[in-house]
This record gives sequence, structure tokens and C-alpha cells, in this order.
Amino acid sequence: MADISFYCVKCRAKKSVPAEKTTKKPLKNGRPAAQATCPDCGTGMFKILSAKEA
Ligand SMILES: [Zn+2]
Repeated sequence: MADISFYCVKCRAKKSVPAEKTTKKPLKNGRPAAQATCPDCGTGMFKILSAKEA
């Protein structure tokens, strides 16, 4: 499975998270999104997925 890159606001850096460690959580408007936890600081990260990643 491919990694998904998230942006951690606390580290101010992009983090790659394995897809199996993310939680898919579609938005109310139907757009696919995912949540993950930063591997370095533990901050929750959120991303709207592109069609390719969803
Ligand atoms: Zn972080």
C-alpha cells in the first residue's frame, strides 16, 4: 500500500504515513479525506484526498 503524505502543522513539515495507519473519513460533502497521527509529535493530521489517493 502506498504512503499518504500529510502536513503536520506542529512540525511544519510533510509526513509520510503508511495508508494502513490512516483513517478514511469522507467529508459531509462526499469528498474523500483521511486522518492520521504524526509519527514524530503525535499531533492529529487531516487531509483531503485526491481522486488518485482515495
Ligand atoms: Zn508532527
